[in-house]
Amino acid sequence: MNSRSEVLKDILHLSHQYGGNQDYVLLGGGNTSWKDDRVMYVKASGHALDEITADGFVAMDRSALDAIWEKTYPEGRKEREREVLEDMMAARLPGETSRPSVEALLHSFIPMQFIVHLHPALVNGMTCAREGRASAEALFGDEMIWVESVDPGYILAKVVRDEALSHEKRTGSFPAIIFLENHGVFVSADTPKEIDMIYNRLMDTLTASVQRSPDLSPLVIDPRREEIIRRGIRNGLDRDVKVVGVANRDLLKFADNSQASQPIRSAFTPDHIVYSGHKPLWIEETVFDLSNPTEAAADLVKQYIADEQVPPKVVLVQRTGAFGIGSTVRLAESASLVFIDTVKVAVYSESFGGYSFMKDDQIKFIRTWEVEQYRAQVQEGRG
Ligand SMILES: [Zn+2]
Repeated sequence: MNSRSEVLKDILHLSHQYGGNQDYVLLGGGNTSWKDDRVMYVKASGHALDEITADGFVAMDRSALDAIWEKTYPEGRKEREREVLEDMMAARLPGETSRPSVEALLHSFIPMQFIVHLHPALVNGMTCAREGRASAEALFGDEMIWVESVDPGYILAKVVRDEALSHEKRTGSFPAIIFLENHGVFVSADTPKEIDMIYNRLMDTLTASVQRSPDLSPLVIDPRREEIIRRGIRNGLDRDVKVVGVANRDLLKFADNSQASQPIRSAFTPDHIVYSGHKPLWIEETVFDLSNPTEAAADLVKQYIADEQVPPKVVLVQRTGAFGIGSTVRLAESASLVFIDTVKVAVYSESFGGYSFMKDDQIKFIRTWEVEQYRAQVQEGRG
């Protein structure tokens, strides 16, 4: 074991422990960090928590990170985020080559040594609910702060910092739990044991508060219908994509009719947009009664692209199932898996006043980037 692995032993263990547990982490998402007085080691962009090694962390100079809060950045989103990213890259210790996670700035000002930031479905059942804030206050009191959804990146970090510091002033201690509306949770402590204690208590409290848990008992998709949808999606996209269908009890409860499907028809968090799209394409069951159902489904896919400027990542078919789409089987599976997470969040949110999606301007903020990517791809002839 080299010295870096030795220094990072505890945070590596925490990363693997939480990263390997599906109740806490999907697709390696979330991020972790450890710091001493001088240096913060934070997960680099593009690493999965369950498989991360010491090289997956970036060492950053804490005084350079602190200096970011003394600076004034441009008002414009693009300009601002570009300058902050430059300062973040410059805050890396000499010899560091990877890019720190976009959420690294959120880790930098938290005084505790260990931070485990995750997006568990159970937690998001509360952070994506109409009475989320009131529930968090009632259940966790002064141990936590609740931060409402704002632009990701610098603005989010700044709002969290301001609220955490005012909480510290008021109560005498920095909040161990930070709930981010329509996003997830930051848990911070000075020992791994405390991190575990806080997460266990958090999950136990939420489990005890929910009236109903998702029923994900798998159901079989009619193979004839599946084939029609698969071909319809391919024809509509005009290329050979992979399609992965899923069906389970709660998914089909939502997919019973358009009205019932509303709680799963938009995006709860930025991760949901990235993996399963900002909204699924909804297809009514009547499509199967038409003389050429494959062409009808293909037309709906084309209409979606015309309206939304990006292809659908998930097609939700009434009383049938959800179909994840991707250029590889892995991406198609990820789309399905994350859409099932949407189902879980929607079910849990029932216990906290009902579902509440990301606000339109927040969705737009993430999507602007996605639409640009897609345009660039189409121009290069890869669309
Ligand atoms: Zn996050």
